[in-house]
Amino acid sequence: MLTDRKVFLIGEAIEKIMSDVQSGNVERIPLIKASGRYLAEDIVANQDVPAFDRSLYDGYALMAQDTRTATKESPVVLEVIGHFGAGAVFQDEVKKYQAVRIMTGAEMPKSCNAIVMLEHVTELEIEDKHYIAIDKQIPVNEKVFKKGAEIIEGTLLVEKGAKITPGIVGLLATFGYNEVLVGVQPKVGVLATGSELLEVDEPLAPGKIRNSNSYMLMAQIEKVGAKPLYLGKLEDNLEKSYAAIQQALTQVDILITTGGVSVGDFDYLPEIYNRLGAKVLFNKIAMRPGSVTTVAKIGEQFLFGLSGNPSASYIGFELFVRPVLKTLLGNEQPYLMSHQAIITEDFRVPNAFTQLIRTKVKVEGTNLFVSSNGLNMSSSITSLVGADALVVLPPSDSGYVEGSAIDILLLSDEGQKNCYFTT
Ligand code: AMP
Ligand code: MG
Repeated sequence: MLTDRKVFLIGEAIEKIMSDVQSGNVERIPLIKASGRYLAEDIVANQDVPAFDRSLYDGYALMAQDTRTATKESPVVLEVIGHFGAGAVFQDEVKKYQAVRIMTGAEMPKSCNAIVMLEHVTELEIEDKHYIAIDKQIPVNEKVFKKGAEIIEGTLLVEKGAKITPGIVGLLATFGYNEVLVGVQPKVGVLATGSELLEVDEPLAPGKIRNSNSYMLMAQIEKVGAKPLYLGKLEDNLEKSYAAIQQALTQVDILITTGGVSVGDFDYLPEIYNRLGAKVLFNKIAMRPGSVTTVAKIGEQFLFGLSGNPSASYIGFELFVRPVLKTLLGNEQPYLMSHQAIITEDFRVPNAFTQLIRTKVKVEGTNLFVSSNGLNMSSSITSLVGADALVVLPPSDSGYVEGSAIDILLLSDEGQKNCYFTT
């Protein structure tokens, strides 16, 4: 019975889940597959960038000292002795009062120490020879990107645990990482329960709804960087559900179910955990939506029993599943990032449990302002679309008034090391 359930604070529930979760196995994978994975090694510069002095523009490489007398009235004329582009190396000696036409990214010829841009010279042709006239002094290192100017060999570039973004992919390629060490992706099965559920492609029928949770959760799993596995849906039948869940557990590292964890006549998950010999960590949390969220373990294997209500299911994932997955993947900021914000409307309803409200965030000056993002019901799905954050409303007899400063949890990929919720 629900009334027999011990109510956990959100922080207590998270602490219980996270108490013995550690980063998982690692594997070496091709760089081309690394986007969205988590680094299992520090990335240290194994060379200078640039590795050689490079021209920053299309222009002429020259010796800056040759231009020191150049003025509008009396330009300096240099002989152009060659022409080359990026990727080539100019081998000939460049002597005093000589220049070489050079393109962006090309290595500076040995004795040259400055670039004058194409636009800033007058090109001359005299007796089949090329010259340039320069009417101003060019400083040493002008338009030259010096060796090591961006990064010096040995610099720590990205710390282990970072999610591999497109920028990091570029960086890894720059430093010659054809393969990269990353956290192994846990395989997370998603199984929906409920005799009312239809497949997405089925037409609506009386009393039925489409199984939206499974697809939403798989997208959340994928966003975190783990591997989702669609395991279908179950009708509310104890024997069939027990068998299916037993089977599912052999296929995945972690199993998420939705629905069936409450006290309704057809909520069979509590009995299934019992039959499986699973250790139920908690089955009641002082939060709305999702107070019936249940987490159980068989050995090291987690069974997340999320509420069937879409918003509750979504929030249950972000609060309880996400930190487990991120930690297993090797990320050290697994929790939703917290911030202070100002509410732009009243939330006057008294609440005995902490409420989590889907909101839009607006930045004005140095402040964040939040307003609710549609229907605030645990069954709502539309309020999840475009929601930037969850407003955390601690229990209160009177609710909260517009203009109050309140804490929010950002629903972005950014995370923080410590859980916002305390015990
Ligand atoms: P339950 O937790 O099984 O009592 O379900 C709570 C509510 O969520 C009910 O109204 C269900 O119809 C709905 N629900 C359950 N599973 C899903 C699902 N997979 N997708 C969308 N809604 C669901
Ligand atoms: Mg149900």
